[in-house]
Amino acid sequence: MLLNLLHEFRESKNSKTRKLKTLYRLILNHGPIRAETLSSLAHIQSATCARLLDELSKSGLISTAELGESTGGRKPILYQINSADGYVIGIEISDIYSTVLLLNLKLDILGMVKVQNKRVEPIDRMIDGLLIKVDALLSEHNLTPKDILGIGIALDHILERDKTPPDRYESEILEIQNVIASRVGCLVTIGSGINFAALAEYRLRYKSQSQRFLFTTCDTEIRSCTIIDSVLSRLPISTAQSFGHTTIDINGLHCECGSEGCLKQYSSLAAIKNQVIQQLRLDKKSVINTLVKDESEIDYHVIFQALAMDDPLCQSVLAEAARYYGVAIANAVLIFQPDVVVCGGTLTPKNNFFALTKETIERKISAFPHIKTRIFSASDSYEIVAQGAGGAVLEKYLEE
Ligand SMILES: [Zn+2]
Repeated sequence: MLLNLLHEFRESKNSKTRKLKTLYRLILNHGPIRAETLSSLAHIQSATCARLLDELSKSGLISTAELGESTGGRKPILYQINSADGYVIGIEISDIYSTVLLLNLKLDILGMVKVQNKRVEPIDRMIDGLLIKVDALLSEHNLTPKDILGIGIALDHILERDKTPPDRYESEILEIQNVIASRVGCLVTIGSGINFAALAEYRLRYKSQSQRFLFTTCDTEIRSCTIIDSVLSRLPISTAQSFGHTTIDINGLHCECGSEGCLKQYSSLAAIKNQVIQQLRLDKKSVINTLVKDESEIDYHVIFQALAMDDPLCQSVLAEAARYYGVAIANAVLIFQPDVVVCGGTLTPKNNFFALTKETIERKISAFPHIKTRIFSASDSYEIVAQGAGGAVLEKYLEE
């Protein structure tokens, strides 16, 4: 029943199905929620709304298990999505570890397999191995591919590894998507890790408090993604890293994109490594000199090791990177005016990187007290991308 109606959401354009879909989406994003609030948000008369809610309940898509706060008489009924019978698979493919998750529709993790990739394998071989894991995970839970809504996959790590030119991303993704879909016989959606991480953060932690959500990550690339009125922006994977190419110094360092002074040249992992090497060449003291024999051995792991030992040189380079990142986010806040900003990526949890980023943004926007943006660090879960990949499957069913 639940699967039938969700399939109808994808295919049917009749007006009743559209209303059911609108209500379901509102319950997904705002639930647990009262019928009166739903009818006003959906602009549907309350009698019609009650009938449609009844239909969603009978199909198993929503439940009324939770009761709201009583204000005297009877406790009001609250509607929420039913996560009991709907399943999705979320996968993050990377060269080091790939993660396969079995999730319910609330993105709770029901089962997980981690695959360590011992050597570099072509993408089709990696997918073969992962689909075997998917089958095993499903049968462990007495499920088959027919019982799930679909599979969401983040594979931008592999596109980057293979140096796929950005203009080939879409066709490459479509090809992989079709190959997998024909083998598993269910919906397959492939997207970018940042979009998926943003979706999972939003669904799991911020859906009730944000209408204008900005998610950004700082790694080898600096990326951003927005969710406006509960709708994830559907931009091509290759555009997510454009945030790293916003200009923060018109007379600044030359960037590979052809411009001068891009954020990536100041705040990315590579920028931090370059800056540390520059400082060491000036004979600045650092614990790094005791960790490596020569400059060529300096990589991110060595720098993170030095940061864990509170090395002042690495700390000051990291602090500078955080300030530039904060300035760039503050610029984005002044234009986009998000209510919530979440910062993720490898650097955010390092030392005081997030604290300095947040302080820089808040200092800059304090001149505009009407901009009420709150800034948070992303969850430290390693599963967030795969969780979001699963969430993207349900998004596909609810697309307009
Ligand atoms: Zn650039």
